[in-house]
Amino acid sequence: MAAAMIPGEQIVYLDNNATTQLDPAVLEEMLPFLTQYYGNPSSGYLFGRQVRQAIDLARERVAALLGCEPGEIVFTSCGTESNNAAVNSALQLDPNRRHVVTTAVEHSATRVHCDTLAKRGFARTVVGVDGEGNLDLDELENAITPQTAVVTVMWANNETGVLFPVQEIAEIARRKRVLFHTDAIQTVGKIPVRLRDMTLNSLALSAHKLHGPKGVGALYVNKRSAFKPLMIGGSQENSRRAGTENVASIVALGKAAECATAALAEENSRVRAMRDRFETGVLERVPETFVNGDRTARLPNTSNLSFTGIESDAALMMFDRHGLCCSAGSACRTGSLETSHVLRAMNVPPDRARASMRFSFGRFNTEADVDKALEIIPAAISKLRAMSPSNASREPASV
Ligand code: PLP
Repeated sequence: MAAAMIPGEQIVYLDNNATTQLDPAVLEEMLPFLTQYYGNPSSGYLFGRQVRQAIDLARERVAALLGCEPGEIVFTSCGTESNNAAVNSALQLDPNRRHVVTTAVEHSATRVHCDTLAKRGFARTVVGVDGEGNLDLDELENAITPQTAVVTVMWANNETGVLFPVQEIAEIARRKRVLFHTDAIQTVGKIPVRLRDMTLNSLALSAHKLHGPKGVGALYVNKRSAFKPLMIGGSQENSRRAGTENVASIVALGKAAECATAALAEENSRVRAMRDRFETGVLERVPETFVNGDRTARLPNTSNLSFTGIESDAALMMFDRHGLCCSAGSACRTGSLETSHVLRAMNVPPDRARASMRFSFGRFNTEADVDKALEIIPAAISKLRAMSPSNASREPASV
């Protein structure tokens, strides 16, 4: 469907933290593995070995993006599986360690998994954040006990873009002799990562956040870390993830990683400049707008803004009518507006949390997208504010 959703009009896609456009170069590289090269990579004949070689190349490309060794990469079905597998492995490695340390702002791929573990009798400590979305590392360190199996902390927050100091956390975990896993699903491809200079035990990534297809991810497992698989069966992925490989998607993830490695330096500054022009432009044009989250330790592509006096789901619909795609910080569930757990953890006042929107840029955005967004947003917010009963006394808006 893509841009055809609005006949004759292009969408302005500012929701790259939700998912990204498939890079045409990635599609081209994966297609032959859905048609011509359908062999099983475990088969002993040449037709199978060719496919195995393609997977090996993908592994090398992902390792190059992460600055680690190809043997440290395990392909999975998505970022969620990678996170689940890392925590599951840590809990299996030492059955006496039944405690997990995590944070209040994790993606549901970690948060709901930890909630489920708690319901099954494991202990869990959730470390909070301050008003800027930053962690208190002393609190995190104090949460680790001799029963702790793993500390699982995201690298970049998907809603605010706030970056956690993962290497410092890895050092704390190492000192305390517990495993450290990071959900880097929003990080990889957006900022440089060099795992060989770090002391992480494991890291999760997902292809669809870096212009690859949905339904494929990877787990980095440090070569010195023991690992127990989540998927049990055949000996694929060096016995770390059973199941016949999703070859075309793995090839695609490899190509997406190669493209991200090549584009990183230049795209990082181009995307950051677009995000900054967008954010400054909105703050100048729309009074009573606030940025949520630390603006310094932040991904270069993300802007989380609260527009006082609006409800974000109404703004989402209004933007949608103009072809602008972004995310609402609150969603209407069972008749009431549920605010983001991330903003709640940051103690953002409820009315400001209900008025929050996430805009996230990517490699395929252009300056024209920024211009278009800067036309749509001020007019739409002003219209919504004028419509709000609590703002009845304000000047009527011209849209
Ligand atoms: N973790 C974070 C921080 C994410 O942003 C996402 C996706 O939105 C996930 C995990 C889940 O990844 P996947 O969709 O590949 O399962």
